[in-house]
Amino acid sequence: MELNERIAGISPSLTLAIDAKAKALAAAGEKVCGFGAGEPDFDTPEHIKEAAAKALRDGKTKYAPNDGIMELRAAISDKLSSENKLSYKQEQILVSNGAKHSLFNIFMALCREGDEVLIPAPFWLSYPEMVRVAGGKPVFVSGTEAHGLKVTASQLEAAITPRTKALVLNSPSNPTGMVYSHAELRALAEVAVKHNLYIVSDEIYERMVYDGMEAVSVGALSSEIFKRTITVNGFSKPYAMTGWRLGYFAGPIEIVKASSAFQSHSTSAPNTFAQYGAVAALRGPQDCVTKMVQAFDERRKFFHERLTAIKGITCVKPVGAFYMFPNIASFGLSSLQFAEKLLLQEKMAVVPGLPFGADAHIRLSYACSMANIEEGMVRLERFVKAL
Ligand code: PMP
Ligand code: GLU
Repeated sequence: MELNERIAGISPSLTLAIDAKAKALAAAGEKVCGFGAGEPDFDTPEHIKEAAAKALRDGKTKYAPNDGIMELRAAISDKLSSENKLSYKQEQILVSNGAKHSLFNIFMALCREGDEVLIPAPFWLSYPEMVRVAGGKPVFVSGTEAHGLKVTASQLEAAITPRTKALVLNSPSNPTGMVYSHAELRALAEVAVKHNLYIVSDEIYERMVYDGMEAVSVGALSSEIFKRTITVNGFSKPYAMTGWRLGYFAGPIEIVKASSAFQSHSTSAPNTFAQYGAVAALRGPQDCVTKMVQAFDERRKFFHERLTAIKGITCVKPVGAFYMFPNIASFGLSSLQFAEKLLLQEKMAVVPGLPFGADAHIRLSYACSMANIEEGMVRLERFVKAL
């Protein structure tokens, strides 16, 4: 059958596929050690659930306004202003079905046929596919291990062409766990200013930072940068709300308007009563987030120590998000072969680095229990010894 070329050319999300495989094995009675999808193992805090349940009981069961309920857009505007030093009016905010959906809306609005989007590698695997579906062309700029898997301004400069339209930033990063400093971000953003590019800043892991690191909102660095920045965030990671499907972006009004029109014909507004839960998430106590991040931090330290004690594995210590991204090149297998064998032999699920643009690596999420990490390290050690 002749399918739409843009859709036929994309591959399914491997993070979701591996997670499904691991869950199916577990359902079949196997003792699976899962490090696949990046999903907090915590439950959504009670006060958030209660707010959504109350909204449901109160009859908030009708279509919401396409751009999101007013209460939520006001809460997002306040949050961006007080926490991120970003001044966005409510009409500059669009609420969607997850940050993934927000990003898709943005690329659909931004990309003309053949427009180039700079994507620092390693990257979250959905960015290139979204850009391609939107008709744009992803252009990868690779961070080196010597530079902590981060890219530099001169690398970006070298990748600019007359067709370059936008730059994607994701700090803290999925999959590397790296966080750009103020100075590094400013240098990257200045390239965007110089070449008149939009900056798509995916800040979904902003709360997961360790070792005194600070997640900086690139749009807050100067008014010149702010003008061209589209700030993306969501509820999945900070509030353990992955299944609620709520995210948002804030940016220049013309991009919000175009995305909003597109959303009005594709999905309409996200679930109405879920949005009341999100208001409670932003307006309510934040100690639930702090506790979760503390738990991630403990796991991170233990995990990194155990992982790098395994002969043949090296790993830049992550200071953000909840992923380890070790280099496994010394074993002579591609990342796909390594991950496949590991799942088959040890029932341990990890994500190959290839779809993140780094075939020498695998990704392991530590948004899982300490017991899972301990067991996983026993299995991984046994696996690599036998290679
Ligand atoms: N951006 C990044 C970097 C991610 O890792 C994810 C996946 N959680 C998303 C965006 C999308 O998250 P969601 O759609 O669940 O809000
Ligand atoms: N973003 C998470 C991950 O990278 C969840 C899965 C997905 O949405 O791709 O694992």
